[in-house]
Amino acid sequence: MSLLDTDKIRRDFPVLQRNVTGGHPLIYLDNAASTQRPRAVIEAMDECYLQYYSNVHRGIHTLSEESTRAYEAARETTREFLNAASAREIIFAAGTTAAINTVARSWGDANVSSDDVILLLISEHHANIVPWHQLAARTGCRVEFIPIDENFEISDETVAEYLDRLQPKMFAFAAASNTLGSEYPVQRWTSMARQHGATVLIDAAQAAPHQQIDVQAWDADFVVFSGHKVCGPTGIGVLYGKEAMLDAMPAFLGGGGMILNVTTEGFTTHELPEKFEAGTPPIVEAIGLAAALKYLTAIGMENIHAHERVLGERADAGLRAIDGVRVIGPTADKKGGINSFVIEGVHAHDVSQFLDGRGVAVRAGHHCTMPLHQSLGVTATARASCYLYNTTDEVDQLLVAVADVRAKFARSGRRRRTRRPVE
Ligand code: PMP
Repeated sequence: MSLLDTDKIRRDFPVLQRNVTGGHPLIYLDNAASTQRPRAVIEAMDECYLQYYSNVHRGIHTLSEESTRAYEAARETTREFLNAASAREIIFAAGTTAAINTVARSWGDANVSSDDVILLLISEHHANIVPWHQLAARTGCRVEFIPIDENFEISDETVAEYLDRLQPKMFAFAAASNTLGSEYPVQRWTSMARQHGATVLIDAAQAAPHQQIDVQAWDADFVVFSGHKVCGPTGIGVLYGKEAMLDAMPAFLGGGGMILNVTTEGFTTHELPEKFEAGTPPIVEAIGLAAALKYLTAIGMENIHAHERVLGERADAGLRAIDGVRVIGPTADKKGGINSFVIEGVHAHDVSQFLDGRGVAVRAGHHCTMPLHQSLGVTATARASCYLYNTTDEVDQLLVAVADVRAKFARSGRRRRTRRPVE
């Protein structure tokens, strides 16, 4: 059992000190949707706005040079965080969604035709489904899904069978599922896909916050994640791409910053990474992201992962022990800190609302994984997701509250639904 010093960590997160509904202390277990920010991130962004903010790359004046240095230093911090070979492989995008759309548009339009297959997992987030459906509408390619088995798992044999049979042009999958919590063997599946000649994109939105990532070891062509899920700001994310891939791809968005030359006849594109960063980039957000990555790295990604495993296992075991509760996900040893569940006879939105009354913030809905929910025959789940600042005591309070929901609704025999599904 390996736990972080949460007393110390929690002092870095001012929002965690507040009370919510009914004066209950906040128990924030909605980290898979978005995380909170430590002071270090807020202060780095404040410092930029208060001391040296200016547009980057354009001006030959002190503030512009200072902002450019900080922006490019953020790129270098991100390169280190991912262990990318070069900072040219790090593109700042608006988030995971924007990064996947960039690949689907730029790589997809240039490389995919009507005979091709894009292979995904059924558990993918809509951000890693819809851009491929859109590509299919443009090119006529097919989008295929690998299902999960009755234990919510996907075996190597199943992946191999789909790769053999479909010979996909692209295999795009999440390193960790935002609903099931499953952590997938990225390196192994990437290597299997490569042997079939597939290009590989890893959605690391739920992996980057929680595990050590080494993009060179993973060997995928693209790896994407979002700032707001790693204690960083909203409005920024990362598109890592192998330099040769990005070099060969046409620019996606056109505008200032991504050009070398523009004439009345046309334009030439800048080198990497600017080629994919049209317009004024998210300067302060990049600086905040770098502060977040440094903060997490100082604590240690492996320590964070171990901490969440302890909390995740405790929540998983506790939920499974409550009569009428069904955990929607594999066993704890195959998951991180995410636990989705349904309570017999109680809608997930009622669960979430009841828990909110105890100060416990969880998410309810389809979590942007409608195909997964459809395949499981459930419309909505409640999801408790832990992060480095959560404690075993908070997990225990979640479990007490879930048991109380179950008891209350079983007693009243009611089936209610109070809120429209959101997300
Ligand atoms: N993929 C996964 C696995 C996610 O969990 C999320 C966020 N819920 C996304 C993609 C989309 O990320 P964003 O909304 O930051 O673009």
